[in-house]
Formats: sequence, C-alpha cells, structure tokens
Amino acid sequence: MKEGLPMIRLDAINDLRRHTASQGDAVRAAVARVVDSGWFILGRELQSFEAEFAAYCGSPHCIGVANGTDALELALRACGVGPGGRVLTVANAGAYSTTAIHAAGGEPVYVDVDDDTLLVDEAELRRRLDGEPVAALIVTHLYGRLVPGIDAISRAARRARVPLIEDCAQAHGARLGGRMAGSFGDVGCFSFYPTKNLGALGDGGALVTGSAELGEQLRMLRQYGWAGKYRIERAGGRNSRLDEMQAAVLRAKLPMLDGWNERRRDIARRFSGGIRQPKLRCPRHFGEDCVAHLYVVRTAERRSLQAHLRARGIASDIHYPLPDYRQPAFAAGPGSVNPVAERACDEVLTLPCFPEMTDDEVAAVVDAVNAW
Ligand SMILES: *Cc1c(COP(=O)(O)O)cnc(C)c1O
Repeated sequence: MKEGLPMIRLDAINDLRRHTASQGDAVRAAVARVVDSGWFILGRELQSFEAEFAAYCGSPHCIGVANGTDALELALRACGVGPGGRVLTVANAGAYSTTAIHAAGGEPVYVDVDDDTLLVDEAELRRRLDGEPVAALIVTHLYGRLVPGIDAISRAARRARVPLIEDCAQAHGARLGGRMAGSFGDVGCFSFYPTKNLGALGDGGALVTGSAELGEQLRMLRQYGWAGKYRIERAGGRNSRLDEMQAAVLRAKLPMLDGWNERRRDIARRFSGGIRQPKLRCPRHFGEDCVAHLYVVRTAERRSLQAHLRARGIASDIHYPLPDYRQPAFAAGPGSVNPVAERACDEVLTLPCFPEMTDDEVAAVVDAVNAW
C-alpha cells in the first residue's frame, strides 16, 4: 500500500474494463452515445434506465430526478406533506431527510435509533406512530442495511394511514425475502452520488413506487408541476431531472451492482472476522439485507484510532459527526435529544470498504486496527 488507502477509488469503479471483459469501456461508450444523439434531457436513455431500475427494484414505477435529497423532498410533497406537517425520521443519518423535510415545509420529529444497529428503533417508532399526529415517516436504511422490522413498520404505517418513505441512498440492491429496498414503503428514494453503491458521473437520483398515482404526481413535481408542456397543474413543482448522460452511465453500471455489493459484503465479513480489538465494536450482520455501503465501527477513543490509521496511510471518515438537531442551521430545543444517536455521533468511525480494494489492502486494514 505504498500510495495509501483512500475511502474510495472512483476512477477504478468507473472503468468497467477492470470488472468484466464483455462490458468493454461501457461508461465511455454511454457518454459518447449521448453526445452523438444530440438529446440531453428526458429522452430514451432516461426512459430505459427508469424501466431497468424499476425492474431491478421490483417496483412498477421509477422516476429519475436530479439527486437523492430532491427525491426525498418530492416524495414528501407527493405524499401531501406541507407546512407544519410532522415527519418522523432519525437524527444520525447525515441530515438529508431533515433538509428535505424543511424544503417541503414540514417539521422533523426525531426517533432514536437502536444501540446495536444504529438504525431506527422499531418499537419506539411504532409507539410514536400510534401516539401522535404524523404526516409522513422516513425510514433510512443507513450504512446499507435494511431497517430490521421494515415489514412490520410498513404494516403499522399503513394501519395508521401514514405514508412511508424509504431513504435507500445507501442501500441500492439490499433485499429481504426477495423484496428489494424501496419496495416496502409508499415510495423509495435513491441517490446516485458518485460514491454510492450505484453512482453516476455527477449528481443523480430516483424514486420507485408501486402507486401509479404517486408516480404521476412525481413526474409532474420533477418538472415545474407540468401536466403537459407549459401547463402547470401541480403546485410545488421543481426542476429536478436526471439527465440523459447520467441515465446512460447508470444503465452501463446497473448490471454490475449485485457483484459489487457481494464484494462489499465480503470485505465487511473479512474485517469483522479479522479484527480483534477490545476497544472496538464492529458490525456483525452481513446478510442479503445489507449491502455494506459503509463499514462503521464504534469506539470511545475515535481520535486516537483515526490518527493511528492515518499514520499508516489508511483513510477513515465519520458518518456522521453531529445529530441533525445540533446542526447550527436547524438547532431545536433540548426536548429533541436522542441519547443513542447522540452517543453514536461521538463514537462512529468508517473504514474504507469499496469493491476495488485488494485482499492485501483488506488485510492491511485489519492488521492496522489490531496493532492500535
Ligand atoms: C447521499 C445520501 C442522500 C442524499 O443524496 P444526494 O444525491 O447527495 O442529495 C440522502 N440520504 C442518505 C442516507 C444519503 O447517504
């Protein structure tokens, strides 16, 4: 590891020749195809990608948008969340849902997370669903793992008549009993930011839904509220489209996603199998419901571990350092403190975990952590 180990290598993941001979240089070919076509917005590439991604997710409808945060915002609007609408979410997932809730005019209400998974606490969530007026619920499949009990949460939300939005920006391809991330709720939201498990060459996002009506609303919302050209029938519309270039690139990469996810799980398993370090808590769950977007350990001595890794040329990062309600721009009253999320923000550290890591690099990370 003479050059050191970064958090991710995007040049490698976008060179599909490295992954399969038959794909050739499919990413460059996709870009060239769009350049030559002379058509850049809402065209055949997007239509095809939407059909292909819908099929992959096992959802009847897919709507491409400009990024994952827009997907969450438009999902909230399509589900009828407006001024004052209270939306249940978690505080340890990077504030994307909070940003979207504010953009839609709603008010985030934070539910604490489970100390083992750092995903929303199912029992607490169901209690809150029954106990207070709620306009919508955003469930985040953080670090690539489907929220345990997502099936039961989905049934509880339906009973309470509360729309369920899944944030799948870290969970492309995660599945449970044959059902895919994004197909449990009313709407599933995806980001194709370059570092995600399925990444574009820039920003990108999509929604999937089983509801033709929600799909129709979302198509209007992503383009000014238009029912047809220059006719605005839906208030709250935006310009948020997934362009042809990104759609074409995503089509080239989608067939690789399951293989990449398998390699991520494999790396995560090797980490947890190899790390012997009493000062660390490591993930222990690597089923099909986990696509190992981020490999996150916990320690009360995070700074020391991070410095130790840095000295050995190994990058690390923190996902995420601040609960949403402590962000300076959104600061709420002390009533909203979530103790488990709060402590997680002080203890989490993400180690490099991406499909192109070599076995030697994986072993070097294990050795470095054990030598701490
Ligand atoms: C990346 C991410 C988003 C936002 O996606 P963008 O495309 O960057 O707007 C939303 N939620 C989660 C959990 C994410 O990791």
